[in-house]
Amino acid sequence: MKQYSLFIGGAHVDTTAHADVRNPSTGEVVGWMPLATLSDLDRAVAAAAASFKVWSQTSDEERQAACRAIAERITVHSEELARLLTLEQGKPLGGLGSRFEIGGAIAWTRHTAELSLPVEVLQDNDDGRVEMHRKPIGVVGAITPWNWPVMIACWHIIPAIRTGNTVVIKPSPMTPLSTIRLVEIINEVLPPGVVNVVTGENSIGAALSAHSGIAKMTFTGSTETGKKIMASAVATLKRLTLELGGNDAGIVLADADPAQIAEGLFWGAFINNGQTCAALKRLYVHDSIYEAVCKALADYAVKIPVGDGLDETSALGPVQNEMQFNKVRELVDDARAKGGRVLTGGAPMDRPGFFYPVTLVADVTDGIRLVDEEQFGPALPIIRYSDIDEVIARANANPAGLGGSVWSSDPQKARHYARQLECGSVWINKHGAIQPNAPFGGVKQSGIGVEFGAEGLKEFTTIQTVLS
Ligand code: NAD
Repeated sequence: MKQYSLFIGGAHVDTTAHADVRNPSTGEVVGWMPLATLSDLDRAVAAAAASFKVWSQTSDEERQAACRAIAERITVHSEELARLLTLEQGKPLGGLGSRFEIGGAIAWTRHTAELSLPVEVLQDNDDGRVEMHRKPIGVVGAITPWNWPVMIACWHIIPAIRTGNTVVIKPSPMTPLSTIRLVEIINEVLPPGVVNVVTGENSIGAALSAHSGIAKMTFTGSTETGKKIMASAVATLKRLTLELGGNDAGIVLADADPAQIAEGLFWGAFINNGQTCAALKRLYVHDSIYEAVCKALADYAVKIPVGDGLDETSALGPVQNEMQFNKVRELVDDARAKGGRVLTGGAPMDRPGFFYPVTLVADVTDGIRLVDEEQFGPALPIIRYSDIDEVIARANANPAGLGGSVWSSDPQKARHYARQLECGSVWINKHGAIQPNAPFGGVKQSGIGVEFGAEGLKEFTTIQTVLS
């Protein structure tokens, strides 16, 4: 068991206070998180500001080489990071778990290394020349959630430093250790102060997002916290990228083949135990194949092994924390009380840890909490519909707008309806499949801005127009 330190200005910084970080599979302590004070935060912002003066002046090639080298260092440490992640987050090592997440962090880092934002010449004629340059913004504050902590940390850190910014990252207090270790590894490559980490309770996140030395906040987490961060950005007019909660609808058309789509539907909904922003969270199925889809999903679900993340045979682990575990339990109990038919699961597993089984609830509709709210856990409501236009209106009635999907044996028809969904990403016959070259972000209350690809990179820059 280890007592961790903050990492500021290229060096470990010890704190006097620490908090336990526990394994959600067992409740055992896996390490101690340092509790940063406000003066530690000031020190981190000052270190990042000092290094910005130098890092922002490095060439594009130098920054590209640094990002490539970071991908290599993460690769070298990938198994160590995966184990630490499993211990604090709970997700299995194998399958779509920790090794998959670290693989994603490496893939995104590699892809981002190869992106660049060259100067654009908008005009060059007898009337003059107009060039558009992209400049780094300054010190970026990054705040991350507990569901995919290492991959999301890379989504924040790598485009920020690739474009010449410096970073102070604050991970979730539920999963801080893998981010501290990631920042140590990144610092094997970078000059001191380019990437710094502070950890602590939510209040240190609030202090970071209000800090006058922060020029931009990049935040991934709940819509409620995103609104607080937006409010605290006002005083210094911070730039913002907000990747917030979702309540993604999946719509199964009458011509879909239940046996063929069951696996895709299942993992679209239950990847990382449903604790995924763009997971399928409301499943609308046409009346004519409703029972067949319910049966195909339930048959698939019972074959999935749920267990301790360190057990190589587990495909899903526990819910990450008690608050989320209680929320899932409450929403399922409420759905059952309102007439929901539980096809599988439906009550906590009888073992230590926050284990809740894969749960499918049929015969529910909009207006109950399991459908209207983001459950962010292993419980999926399955809703019957008969009119496609009406179901699209119901899908769009939710304030969230992160992702959506349409399932059909006619991809053209599916695409036609998918385009009518009010969300940042839509998938045909799959759900939640993100990739580093495809911009990803929410509309409505699911966020502001996008991540990934050149569009995501631009969010870490300001434009300077040069007219001559
Ligand atoms: P959360 O909002 O509770 O916490 C996220 C982070 O914000 C944590 O680091 C937390 O310490 C910090 N925080 C809490 N209060 C704060 C405050 N007042 N000011 C500044 N920071 C504060 O979210 P969570 O429970 O960790 O994550 C789950 C949520 O994240 C879900 O809603 C999920 O959909 C969303 N999410 C979205 C995406 C996306 O890309 N859109 C990705 C992953 C998760």
